Amino acid sequence: MIVILKQGITPQEKDKVRSFLSEKGFIVKEIIGQEDTVFGAVGKSTIDPRTVELLPGVSSVVPISKPYKLASREMKKEDTIVKVGKVKIGGGRVAVIAGPCAVESYDQMMSIAESVREAGAVMLRGGAFKPRTSPYAFQGLGEEGLKLLRKAGDAFDMPITSEVVSPSDVAMMAGYVDMFQIGARNMQNFELLKEVGKTGMPVLLKRGLSATIEEWLMAAEYLMASGTDQVVLCERGIRTYEKATRNTLDCSAIPVVQKLTHLPVIGDPSHATGIRDMVAPMSLAIVASGASGVIVEVHNCPEKALSDGPQSLYPQQFAKLVHDIQALCPVVGKSLEKIPRILPQSMRTKREEESRDKADDSLVVAFQGVRGAFSELAARRSFDESAAMLACHSFSDAFEAVSSGKADYAVLPVENTLGGTVYDNLDLLAMHPELTVVGEQQVRVMHNLIVVPGTRMEDIRKVYSHPQGLQQCRAFLERELPDAERVPFFDTAGAVEYIASAGDKSIAAIAGAPAAHYYGMEVLRQGIETDASNYTRFYILAREENADVFRSQSKPDKASLSFSVSDEPGALMDILSTIAAKGINMTKLESRPIPGKPWEYLFFVELQLPENMAGFDELTEEIRAKAVSFRVLGIYTSAI
Ligand code: PEP
Ligand code: MN
Repeated sequence: MIVILKQGITPQEKDKVRSFLSEKGFIVKEIIGQEDTVFGAVGKSTIDPRTVELLPGVSSVVPISKPYKLASREMKKEDTIVKVGKVKIGGGRVAVIAGPCAVESYDQMMSIAESVREAGAVMLRGGAFKPRTSPYAFQGLGEEGLKLLRKAGDAFDMPITSEVVSPSDVAMMAGYVDMFQIGARNMQNFELLKEVGKTGMPVLLKRGLSATIEEWLMAAEYLMASGTDQVVLCERGIRTYEKATRNTLDCSAIPVVQKLTHLPVIGDPSHATGIRDMVAPMSLAIVASGASGVIVEVHNCPEKALSDGPQSLYPQQFAKLVHDIQALCPVVGKSLEKIPRILPQSMRTKREEESRDKADDSLVVAFQGVRGAFSELAARRSFDESAAMLACHSFSDAFEAVSSGKADYAVLPVENTLGGTVYDNLDLLAMHPELTVVGEQQVRVMHNLIVVPGTRMEDIRKVYSHPQGLQQCRAFLERELPDAERVPFFDTAGAVEYIASAGDKSIAAIAGAPAAHYYGMEVLRQGIETDASNYTRFYILAREENADVFRSQSKPDKASLSFSVSDEPGALMDILSTIAAKGINMTKLESRPIPGKPWEYLFFVELQLPENMAGFDELTEEIRAKAVSFRVLGIYTSAI
């Protein structure tokens, strides 16, 4: 049952409720949610809920209808975010775990770890105890394998996961792994589940070969009842009559499970398909289904792999896959989980010092607009939950906030796929040489018709939004609300704030879902924009001293430059030819008037960085020599 506590419950009353329940034989878990604090009480005992309801400080008692209790959404509404070292799984993230099926040797592990880390994996996998169908197949290196996996994880700064097959290995393995893996064949090995649960450590729980969703969640319940609340579910294909693939990937289980439980669910396309070529498309299907990540088998030499070679990706295939997953993330409203790249020793020390100095004041991130704006969403996706958001009235206020040190970073739009370049921000960047571009973020702009709760379509007389919001939803408005007046407003989330304060059912707003959530309004119609390919790209800006910390998270592959040229024939052409001659791909070119210099222009260029950075350094030297003014606005990792 769920015991909902009153807002003003005193610590003494809370203790009394807890001991009352424990004495009656219940396992009691406190869950602090956004709205309520509750005690989840589970166990074999039965009790008349009214006796609990009468205790001081208790608001109400609700029975849990499902056989799994601690794992159920009824018990906890918010998504659980499982932390494995510095990696987070769940919520708005997509975490990529990769590595070989089995640990085979030191060289094999180091080579694979290096390549998957470079490509964007955040956690390393590798089996040391392999439950093979045939007793004659390679059974794994055992503890020796765990040592190699640990070494590779430490060398490339990734937490590790490995399968545990026997309760008697749990204590030994706890000394090596960061997350236990329970294999499909052991999903209902209850003694193993209890032993692993007792460690309180994170667990990756594979779905059994022919387990129903309920049986799978009951297995999670075993882990949770034994003592861990850090469970990640993994859909890895089920047994069906189909033989074309090794198993049948049950993608529909992902949204089903996500509704039933607060635990994160990821997918394993490798064991689901058993075929290398199917792994990438099914990984994308897993992410599109709403999963919080994928676990993929990768091998440096799959032909020689001691197990599951035919389904293991080559490192280059894996790198391409991570790139595609990243491109898909904004479509499903998520962002790729990243961890800082390994830094050279000197930089690491500087960074540690910085984090020590700022131990208790968290990062401040500036964005333009009111709370709930798309810009806030972009800012949240770029930083950890602990970052504080600073809403700025104008773009220039956001620049000032970073410049003055009031904020550490600013996240500002530079381009929309339908509306084009946001010139104001390029102009402001030109005026702020102390700031640099350290990253990029992409957000899908999905518009919604937002109303005061309880409003019906026929009540709406006026629709408020930013002119672009109204324009982008014109077909919907003409079709569904032809008589409603369209009222331009200074921004989309601001329009939601306005209808919320007016509390009037005859007015609606068009904005993103976060704004509806933030102001407690209701989304009456979702995705009402005419063109669904509506994305906004943001720059993440910082002062130079904060740049490396952010950039170190992933390998830079893009640069932004600005330059001006003398007023003579071919001057611009000369610089563009220099870029072309280096074989460097230019992805954007804009020109802006220079304030105070009529008819003179500043050019903005975005480039793909070449593999060989020396080529880029030569290019900047050549442009510097030819241009009147020149600046590298930033080197960063592209979000697209
Ligand atoms: C594995 O991940 O190596 C494995 C054996 O997977 P499963 O338990 O899903 O078959
Ligand atoms: Mn395998």
